[in-house]
Amino acid sequence: MTGGAGFVGSHLCDSLLSHGATVDVLDNFSTGFAHNLPPKIRRLWKEDVAAPPPLPPYDLIFHLACPASPPRYQADPVATFQTAVIGTVAMLEEARRHRSRLLVASTSEIYGDPLEHPQKESYWGHVNPVGLRSCYDEGKRAAETVATDYRRKYGIDLRIVRIFNTYGPRMDPFDGRVVSNFIRQALEDEPLTIYGDGSQSRSFCFVSDLVEGILRAGRVPALEDPVNLGNPGEFTIGELADLLEEVVGRPLKREFRPLPADDPRRRRPDISRARERLGWSPEVPLRAGIERTVENFLGRMPWSRDGAPSS
Ligand code: NAD
Ligand code: UDP
Repeated sequence: MTGGAGFVGSHLCDSLLSHGATVDVLDNFSTGFAHNLPPKIRRLWKEDVAAPPPLPPYDLIFHLACPASPPRYQADPVATFQTAVIGTVAMLEEARRHRSRLLVASTSEIYGDPLEHPQKESYWGHVNPVGLRSCYDEGKRAAETVATDYRRKYGIDLRIVRIFNTYGPRMDPFDGRVVSNFIRQALEDEPLTIYGDGSQSRSFCFVSDLVEGILRAGRVPALEDPVNLGNPGEFTIGELADLLEEVVGRPLKREFRPLPADDPRRRRPDISRARERLGWSPEVPLRAGIERTVENFLGRMPWSRDGAPSS
């Protein structure tokens, strides 16, 4: 697995290990942490996925390495683009050389600020090629392109999953995403930072649901087309703030900040394809998932800057 020390990757590692798999991880720890990794992984490469060391053959490569939080992927946009594109080419080469199955983690960002709602896989998107989010959006679009061309040209056994906003325990409290920001702010008695007027929407998927979808996408005999994985429940950012207030059981202040450039207005996956081809749909409602995430954040306080408990 590439990116196994990150939020999603570490949960996927746990799940694979619990199913009896042997798991090696390649990660450069740019946004992931050693403390996320289960001790039972067989081998860890601390390397850049865009310049990997010689690797042994694997049956299945889960390719997740890439920063996912907007502040993190915009901090070094050139590195983000290189990770998304050159890193994916490197894993495609591994898959070609060793005839491994390859699952590529793509994103709902490939739909940009969508003009179709909800988003089906057949929608081509509405993406600014030269904006602040483009390093990630266009990087992931190019990753999908080159992966699909490798499949056509070399017959790679490829799966592309388009992941929508995912949250849950073990998120980095400082990664800048809305769920981690809001929960950290609520627990530290800071105002919730709402960008814009909070009327933009997202669809939030609990991480255990996402992991199940990824495992199924890796397991089915074939999956030619990209598949959306996300929770079709749609909430505005204002509604998310209200829900968190109910969960923590006390009033939370709001602080309104400017909306970042190109921030998508709406997001909601059409998951018909995942239902049909993977028999998958998410099960954890937002409220239950937020409760579990708050509990996890509370258990890690007081935290050091890397999100690990400091005591
Ligand atoms: P994350 O930042 O927590 O994890 C990413 C991991 O990749 C980290 O461990 C990081 O150190 C590693 N990494 C980054 N660049 C690397 C490089 N050049 N070489 C080696 N390792 C590198 O992010 P996440 O939320 O776990 O996301 C994992 C994957 O899922 C990403 O590909 C992301 O684009 C995709 N995704 C996530 C979400 C979400 O809501 N979490 C949504 C859409 C797509
Ligand atoms: N957002 C917010 N406050 C924050 C962080 C994010 O209002 O402290 C907004 C952000 O502008 C976006 C939404 O929440 O509209 C989701 O942001 P996130 O960074 O989690 O993911 P993405 O924009 O990639 O979907």
